[in-house]
Amino acid sequence: MKKRRLRDLPPQALDGKRALTRVDFNVPLKNGRVTDDTRLRASLPTIKYLRDKGARVVLLSHLGRPKGGPDPQYSLKQIVPDFERLLGAPVEFIPDPVAGAAATRHLTRGGVALVENTRFWPGEEKNDPELAKAFAALGDLYVNDAFGSAHRAHASTEAVAHLLKPAVAGFLMEEELTYLGQLLANPKRPFIAVLGGAKISGKIDVIRALLPKVDELLIGGAMACTFFAAMGLEVGSSLVEPDRIALAKELLVASGKQLILPRGAVIAPSLEQARESKSVPAHAIPKGWAVFDIDESTQHDFGARLVRAKTIFWNGPMGVFETPPFDAGTRAIANALVDAGKKGAVTVVGGGDSVAAVAGMEDKLTHVSTGGGASLEFLEGKELPGVAALENA
Ligand code: ADP
Ligand code: MG
Repeated sequence: MKKRRLRDLPPQALDGKRALTRVDFNVPLKNGRVTDDTRLRASLPTIKYLRDKGARVVLLSHLGRPKGGPDPQYSLKQIVPDFERLLGAPVEFIPDPVAGAAATRHLTRGGVALVENTRFWPGEEKNDPELAKAFAALGDLYVNDAFGSAHRAHASTEAVAHLLKPAVAGFLMEEELTYLGQLLANPKRPFIAVLGGAKISGKIDVIRALLPKVDELLIGGAMACTFFAAMGLEVGSSLVEPDRIALAKELLVASGKQLILPRGAVIAPSLEQARESKSVPAHAIPKGWAVFDIDESTQHDFGARLVRAKTIFWNGPMGVFETPPFDAGTRAIANALVDAGKKGAVTVVGGGDSVAAVAGMEDKLTHVSTGGGASLEFLEGKELPGVAALENA
């Protein structure tokens, strides 16, 4: 179902109106300073658009995981100076949403206010209608730009969306829905998914959902080792999920030729003994050694498949990319996506660590999803409560 978008609203819907805007300001902090402001910067297009149209912008976000009560360590007040600098305008801080409605009425056109961490109120994670009412009193319309929080039915993402009209998708949310939606709806073929990372367990549903849709599913990371074990191969001391081997067997049978595993691996006795690392074919992993990356022959194989693709979705690194030289496989896949993109492929990267692995390459990829868990749930075909609650187009 297509959702109504911020850009679809007529000027009179915004001019002078209080736009209650759910953003994702869940940024990493150290000693009260923002150490990575990517998410703050990502929210600027929506906020700037609202200000340009004369709206009064009231921002809602969570930060970290406070235990259902105020905790100075997780106060959004800390990010105000960094955010003001990026925005180039003063930001009024509202410490309490319940008492804050008056302050939002005093905002001037184009003015910006930030409400304290939504998770300081226990009703947030319970999707409490009373807290949602307090949030709704802070605005005249609702904009959700926090795709990464849309898989949770919380008061600031779900319940509040039913209380304000219009309730629309901001630019970031719109971009996520467009590109991820395109993967599921009508991907240009061949469509190849690359999945990696530490475990199969968190990604089974996405594997199951993608298998019928993709032409090929390339598997790397430690996840591949559980498949190796399912094939009866020796996996040494690699990270394997013994309780998922049966499932891996089932997927191997069901998927036939679509599921492509690494031909070989870069192994070492341990992560600390990276200097002893060497490449071996997948069937020759010795006892006492562990897989830490895909090998060069796999890089070439995966790369050759990917440059022919017209749509690529990638989640999960191919190896322990935080520890060189085990970053080589992940870098090779990142480069293969860029090359495929140059030849016209749509390239989408989602996840947490995979997004970190393509840092600085965003311009050369079609879309880098900041959604993490939400992007995987979306691709599993699940309805995200924070999206469902927005008005239909
Ligand atoms: P994402 O956050 O992109 O969804 P995951 O969290 O599933 O990815 O997996 C990322 C982690 O997987 C990284 O910390 C990486 O070190 C680890 N990893 C990848 N390959 C291996 C491997 N062969 N052995 C152990 N850990 C691995
Ligand atoms: Mg991760």
